[in-house]
Amino acid sequence: MVLFGRIGDVVFTLPSVAALAKARPDLSIDWIVEDRCADLLSGHPLLRDVIRFERSRLTALKKSGHPLRALGEIGRLVKRLRSRRYDAVLDFQGLLKSGVATGLARGALKLGSPSTYGRMREGSAFFSRMVPLPDAGLHLVERHLLVVRELLGRPVEPVSSGLTISPHEIRSAREKAGSDPFVLIHPFASWETRNWPADLWKKTAREMVERGFRVVVAGAGGPTQEEVVRRILEGAGGRGHSLLGQLSLRELAAVMALSEAVLAVDSGPMHIAASAGARVVALFGPTDPARLGPFGPRKRPGEGESYGRSGRVVAAGLPCQPCMLRRCPIGTPCQSELSPTAVVEAAMSLIASQELAGLSGALARERAS
Ligand code: SF4
Repeated sequence: MVLFGRIGDVVFTLPSVAALAKARPDLSIDWIVEDRCADLLSGHPLLRDVIRFERSRLTALKKSGHPLRALGEIGRLVKRLRSRRYDAVLDFQGLLKSGVATGLARGALKLGSPSTYGRMREGSAFFSRMVPLPDAGLHLVERHLLVVRELLGRPVEPVSSGLTISPHEIRSAREKAGSDPFVLIHPFASWETRNWPADLWKKTAREMVERGFRVVVAGAGGPTQEEVVRRILEGAGGRGHSLLGQLSLRELAAVMALSEAVLAVDSGPMHIAASAGARVVALFGPTDPARLGPFGPRKRPGEGESYGRSGRVVAAGLPCQPCMLRRCPIGTPCQSELSPTAVVEAAMSLIASQELAGLSGALARERAS
C-alpha cells in the first residue's frame, strides 16, 4: 500500500485498509507514508508495518549541505521497500513520487486509484494500472475503495473510518480541552483560497459563546496562525482557549471527537474530525464537497450507526464554485460572502439533532464518566 502525502489523503485511504482487512483478515498490510502523517498510523492494529518516508529530515539534510547523507537515507528506504515481495502494490495517491515507490516495490499486481480527478496524476500510470472510475460523483473514500474491489474481485462497502483512538489519548485530550462543553475551531488550510477571513471566524466564535459553548482553537502553529487565533480568541472573550501547536494528529483527533462540534475549512484536520466521529461543519470555498466533503461514522436518531457522508457542508453558493483554484482571480468572494450566521446555524442544527457519530467504546465510556 503506497501513499506518501497529505493528511486528507491518509484519512481517505484508511477506510480501504479497514475494508480490506475485514474481507481478507489473512493478509498483511504495509503502508509507506510521509513522516508528517505517520502519527495517524502509528500502532495501527490493522497494519503490519508503517514505512516512513522522512521527507522533513531529507530536506533538512539537503539544506544543511549533506546531500550524500540524504542519498544514503533514500538508499536505505529503497532497500527496505524492496526487502519484501508483495502480492499487490496499491497506489492511492497517483503522484509521481507514489508512482516511483510503486514501481520500486516488488509485486506482481500494481493498481492505482482514480484519485482526485478520476485519473492518476504526474505520470504515475507508468508504474501501475488505474482502476476505472464509474461515476465522477464518487467521494475520494469511495474512489479508493474501488481499488480494494478490483483487488478482491467483488464489491466492498465502507465499513469504518479505520481511525483508532486509544482510551489513553482520549483521557489526555480531555485534560487538554477541559471539561465544559466546547466547540473546536480549526481555521487553517494549506491553500490560501480555502481559508475563511479571521474576522468572520471572530464573529462565529462570539456567537458560539453567546449560545453557551466554550471555544477551543487548534492548528499546527507558526506566526501567521497565531494572529488568526488571537482574533478568534478576542471574539470568544474569556471563554476561548488555544491549543495551537500543542497537539499531535492523534491528539487532535481525540480532542475533536470530544467536542460538541468541529467548525473547520476544507482541510486535512476537517477530514480527521469526520473520521474521528465528530459533528463537523465544513466550510467550502473553491473545492468540491461531493468529492471532498466530510465522510465518517455517524449515528442518526432512529437510523442506528452507519458510515458515509456526514456532518454539514456550508458554502456561499456562487456560480464559480467549485473552481479548484489555489489563487483566486476575483478576490475569493466564495469565502468573504459565506456568513458566520450560516456556520453557526449549521453547528446548532447538528448539535440539536443529536446526530452523534460512531464514537468508539472508549470515547462513549469517557463521555459517560
Ligand atoms: S473563482 Fe470563485 S470559487 Fe474559485 S476561489 Fe475565486 S471565488 Fe472561490
